[in-house]
Amino acid sequence: MVEDFEKGQIIVDKNVVTYHDLKYFIVELNDKFRPDNLIKYDVLLIDIKEDELVTYVVKQIRTHINPRIYMMPIFLLSTTDFHEVVTTHLTDGILPSINHLDSIEPRALDIKANIERINHPKVLSFESQMINRTLNLMYTRNKKVLNPIPYFHSGIGYYYPELSINFDHRDESGALKILEIAEQEGLFQSEFHERVYCCNNCNGSYLNYREVCPKCNSSDSISQDLVHHFPCAYVGPIEDFKNNIDDQLDCPKCNKTLRHIGVDYDKPSVLYTCNSCHHRFQDYYTKAKCITCGTENDVEHLVPFSIKKYIMTKKGENVAINGYINIEKQLESLEGTVTMAIFKVLLTYEIQRLHTQGYQSNIGYIHVQHAAAVAGVLGLEKQKALMNDLVQMLKSNLNPSDFVSFYNSSTIVFSFVNTKHKEAKEAIEEMKDLSERLLRKSFEKVHIEVRTDVIALKLGGEVESVVNSMVFPLTKM
Ligand SMILES: [Zn+2]
Ligand SMILES: [Zn+2]
Ligand SMILES: [Zn+2]
Repeated sequence: MVEDFEKGQIIVDKNVVTYHDLKYFIVELNDKFRPDNLIKYDVLLIDIKEDELVTYVVKQIRTHINPRIYMMPIFLLSTTDFHEVVTTHLTDGILPSINHLDSIEPRALDIKANIERINHPKVLSFESQMINRTLNLMYTRNKKVLNPIPYFHSGIGYYYPELSINFDHRDESGALKILEIAEQEGLFQSEFHERVYCCNNCNGSYLNYREVCPKCNSSDSISQDLVHHFPCAYVGPIEDFKNNIDDQLDCPKCNKTLRHIGVDYDKPSVLYTCNSCHHRFQDYYTKAKCITCGTENDVEHLVPFSIKKYIMTKKGENVAINGYINIEKQLESLEGTVTMAIFKVLLTYEIQRLHTQGYQSNIGYIHVQHAAAVAGVLGLEKQKALMNDLVQMLKSNLNPSDFVSFYNSSTIVFSFVNTKHKEAKEAIEEMKDLSERLLRKSFEKVHIEVRTDVIALKLGGEVESVVNSMVFPLTKM
């Protein structure tokens, strides 16, 4: 039975609330929760009667395979603040009651608009998927910085909610490897935050450091002072000096009574006696026992990880929208192209050459709009073939000394060396025509737009900013 009633403009129908242009779905306790069905709604409200339900639901959504579901706006329906740190990071705010939808509507709309902007290429590798998910979640929340949060339940002690949520407790250090790849690809810049040491068997960081017997590894030992009697030079544990009658200390070697510490004796160090094997030792070993897997680690064999703060670069922002499909590896092998790193080196030389009287040089780009849709239709292999055709077409219109590279899966950058800016402008118009024709031949039904531009290199220009100023406006379109 459907109960329909109207509260002002808020229309409530069981768990579905419609207000203005948004459809909200309320997840309640005891609901048979099926994340797949959420695709029909714009915003999810979680009724926060039970913390565990909240954590469970949030995890199901944020790790869902469908991008439209893992990016959904989630608000917690609660009259009090919610303190669980990971869930707080992975949700978008708190709503005291559905009569206050106005308070979350702007944010929900903002996230929704950002989601619409994102393209989703078919991504094969696990690493690429993880990078895309993280960038997508950050971008849709206008978030630039990925801070490691200290987290008791984390396998490595620190948690990057948008990314770590995808990892099991026991292989959470995998998140750090993903971030490393993303940093190498120029999607993030990093700042050192902390170093953690992890078990060399399971990479867990929940370790119990203690002093153990060098013979049998037992941590069950007692310590006592070592006493050095000056007159006779005897050194032994304090126990050797004690008697059963009073607390006077007598030297076992010369039988004299010890008087004042510092005067006739001192305590140069501590002696340990193992309760397990009775071994006596002055220097213990420090071992780190892993609480997770039980491995007894020598401290020098612990695995160190750097915990960093990651800041999304402009390239990262571009990739957040257009998708990351491990470009370097997918497209690097295309004949006639150089990697982005080499492209930048060549560009540096090109800027140097501008010192020569009358020398002019330019760089240009071709950006295929909706390349993600293209990839989705074609699959990676065919997209690669298409990109190859595009590169060959470009090469045949450029000078042999020009260089071509992929900025990302939908943008090709290239040079017009020793060319006047006006000529480069004309040339790129022609290339735009040719590439549109080429793409139209391959896709009759998909509307594809090609954007191009060319900029003149200037003396003193920074390679990084030249490339960014050329390509970055794309992300704003
Ligand atoms: Zn372990
Ligand atoms: Zn003595
Ligand atoms: Zn022992």
